[in-house]
Amino acid sequence: MRPRLAKFIFVTGGVMSGLGKGVVSSSIAKLLQLSDQRVSCVKIDPYLNYDAGTMNPIAHGEVFVTEDGGECDMDVGNYERFLNQDMPKSHNITTSQVYSTVIEKERRGDYLGACVQIIPHVTEEIKSRIRRTAEEESLDMLVVECGGTVGDIESLPFLEALRQIRVEDGPESVAFVHVTLAPSIDAVGEQKTKPTQHSVQELRRIGIQPDYVAVRCEKELEGPTRKKIALFTNVPERDVLSCHDVGTIFRVPHVMYDQGIVDSMFKKFGKVGLVNTSNRWADWTSIVDSLERPGEDVKIAMVGKYVDLPDSYVSVNLALRHAGASIGRSVSIDWIDSETLREGSLGGYGGIIVPGGFGTRGAEGIIAAAEHARATDTPYLGICFGFQLAAVAFARGACGIGGATSSELDSSAEDPVVGILPGQEGAGMGGSLRLGAHEIELTGGSRAEAIYGARSITRRHRHRYEFNLDYRGRFAREGMVFSGQSDSGRRMEVLEIPSLRFFVGVQFHPEFSSRPGSPEGAFGAFVSAAAGI
Ligand code: GLN
Repeated sequence: MRPRLAKFIFVTGGVMSGLGKGVVSSSIAKLLQLSDQRVSCVKIDPYLNYDAGTMNPIAHGEVFVTEDGGECDMDVGNYERFLNQDMPKSHNITTSQVYSTVIEKERRGDYLGACVQIIPHVTEEIKSRIRRTAEEESLDMLVVECGGTVGDIESLPFLEALRQIRVEDGPESVAFVHVTLAPSIDAVGEQKTKPTQHSVQELRRIGIQPDYVAVRCEKELEGPTRKKIALFTNVPERDVLSCHDVGTIFRVPHVMYDQGIVDSMFKKFGKVGLVNTSNRWADWTSIVDSLERPGEDVKIAMVGKYVDLPDSYVSVNLALRHAGASIGRSVSIDWIDSETLREGSLGGYGGIIVPGGFGTRGAEGIIAAAEHARATDTPYLGICFGFQLAAVAFARGACGIGGATSSELDSSAEDPVVGILPGQEGAGMGGSLRLGAHEIELTGGSRAEAIYGARSITRRHRHRYEFNLDYRGRFAREGMVFSGQSDSGRRMEVLEIPSLRFFVGVQFHPEFSSRPGSPEGAFGAFVSAAAGI
């Protein structure tokens, strides 16, 4: 049987990075999903890293971990949250992955006799990855976001592959959406169109005429600006879309819907769109409304070392907001740099959260923050590194093991209450951590069981160190309970101090499982505790 042909929506970026291509891509996909289409998203990252796992979150934003253990670009997290759908790691394609396959094939002799080239061999590999995703997942539509900015050398083979797909499948099966910027820099706020004009010219130079231009701007695109962009870019006026600033990124599908993108796209694809008649549209609208509704503020201190770029912890941020929205509260998050933490830094907060992290820098500050939470009975949620360092703080503060630490901080420590995972000692840095979804057994009657309402859950991981079981007995005697375990009790996954209002650490990453409208359990319970509920 010939697989049915999916429609493709290719999203490219112009002018500069950081315009929110990921949000535009997710929003289009959301509208198509709400129109009863089977849809998914793919992110192309033209950089040379095999995956995002070895990149610095300070510069590139968080590493998003998928169920199947992929260390992906943070846009994949946006796709999951908008679509409420798990993405496999194959949905994040990088230059290295493509080249590795091509080189493997060459060595195997698959191209015997041929001179192996970017066109056709690399472009064929790119096309086949995209097509395979659509076919294997029986998709009606696939949104493919190409990272980088048009004009970059790195993205050329990818854009060429996308161009070829349109030639091969025909214009009724492919739509190109180009995301640009209309800045207003003068006092009157006139929206400038020149960057958009130039970037569309650049795209056309490599043979791609966009069908839609999604223009990022501060205020709604003005009529004359829209007209001018249409004229210069050769895109019908109704397909020039204003993507102006809104209260939450989850409002963007509404903004695009109101400008008729669904009708226009469905017409182009020869389909009938039903978005606003579906029940799911009403559900989505009420979720977005709840995220925008201001409520009484819950103040959370987030203690970590990557505090300069909020994108470093985007999933944690959003998970806190999802949890707040579900109890009618808005959450304000103060970033507290653990390196400069002082006496008094943590006063006045409803709760303290320590997200994941790596390395020694700032670790002592995190340990002090966990100890402060325990000593003052301030609700505490420690994630991964925050779980491990809460254990270190407890060993020092409650068990009297003064030299307690993690082997990550001191590899020759006498009391490594957190040690390296077996097999990790000599491992290379890329893709070698304990990754992805693992099942966790929760102890009956524990807070963990109450939080999740289940005896077993599955959550995503990304770590190299774990709690050292030798210390379990001493911790138990002082009142710390390990209420979640995996691998038949061999790994500790949840810690809690039942005598406190809320002191919970999780070795896994609950933030990757939080979705708007359905906050993850640990976040829900933590924010409620921080709100005094
Ligand atoms: N650095 C710790 C480890 O490797 C924690 C990792 C994390 O927080 N993601 O185990």
